[in-house]
Amino acid sequence: MNKNWITAYGQQPLYIAGPCSAETPEQLRTTALAVQQLGIKLVRAGVWKPRTRPNSFEGVGVEALKWIQEIKKETGLAFAIEVANPLHVEAALQYDIDVLWIGARSTVNPFTVQEIADALQGTDKPVLVKNPINPDLSLWMGAFERLKGRGIDKLGAIHRGFSSFAESRYRNIPAWQIPIELKRLMPDLPLICDPSHIGGDSLMIEGISQMALDLDYDGLMIETHPTPAEAWSDAKQQVSPAQLQEILSRLRKRDPASQHPEFADKLEEIRDQIDQADREILEALHRRMELVGRIGEYKRNHNIAILDLKRWNEIFESRPQWGKKFGLKKSFIKELYKLVHQASIKMQTNILNNKKEKY
Ligand code: PEP
Ligand code: MN
Repeated sequence: MNKNWITAYGQQPLYIAGPCSAETPEQLRTTALAVQQLGIKLVRAGVWKPRTRPNSFEGVGVEALKWIQEIKKETGLAFAIEVANPLHVEAALQYDIDVLWIGARSTVNPFTVQEIADALQGTDKPVLVKNPINPDLSLWMGAFERLKGRGIDKLGAIHRGFSSFAESRYRNIPAWQIPIELKRLMPDLPLICDPSHIGGDSLMIEGISQMALDLDYDGLMIETHPTPAEAWSDAKQQVSPAQLQEILSRLRKRDPASQHPEFADKLEEIRDQIDQADREILEALHRRMELVGRIGEYKRNHNIAILDLKRWNEIFESRPQWGKKFGLKKSFIKELYKLVHQASIKMQTNILNNKKEKY
């Protein structure tokens, strides 16, 4: 796999902009010309649209590929579209679309991804894979493995956030740790953020984009429409070319690392202290687990059930309160204690069943 293919589409970070959906030849051409003015070389446009409910606009289909062909001839721009089945792949290749992407609803289905990979065999088009809608890193990685298995090596990942039942200010929660883990496990894969589908709101694009750049992402894909309010899909989250220009001008590109010796020294000093704090956390965690183990044995000897809901409620209420004193966010401490409690239950279950393994 090589990461260098993205340099063919502009400087890093790579910017991809364009409408959620291709609607009319004029809308597509106006957007393409406007984003080209901003120095963007790769335009996105949905040709077939996966909609959650039927009877909404499902894309104009092959007709839009003809518009793209015309605009490409006129401007020299490159285009990226979503493909969701072998027929889409065939049409996209026939119309010489430059970059293809697999959408979030397709990435969840290994049959679909395999069919798309099979249809792509033999092309050297770059293929981007959006994260699956559910927070499952293996499924995302599996899609890259299927594509690699068919000889596709210009690959890239698009982080578009994950569905969640819980109330959230995001349309799709970012769960940044998942793409970061993907970056750790597949470091040669370019990672692109799609703040439009994460935020679901044009006002959130800038903040999410800045976060992505601060995490050293390789690019951004931002839905752009000449008149967002009138868009046939995803109206709320699209920005106008003028808004896009403003957002891009405000984004700060920080260096991933500094070569300055003084900076490195200071960083190392603080990191030493973090290492020490982590050792203390682990020691305390070990001490806590030993105590949990003692209770487990005590419960086993007296034939008492493991889960004590009253005690768990007490912990779940009090610890976030204790953390508040130190300025620790309640939601963070709650998540932390869910993990600790899960490990404690597992340990006591093992003790109850006289298993050797403790946790
Ligand atoms: C899109 O890019 O317009 C789209 C449908 O995205 P996703 O697959 O992320 O939902
Ligand atoms: Mn969209």
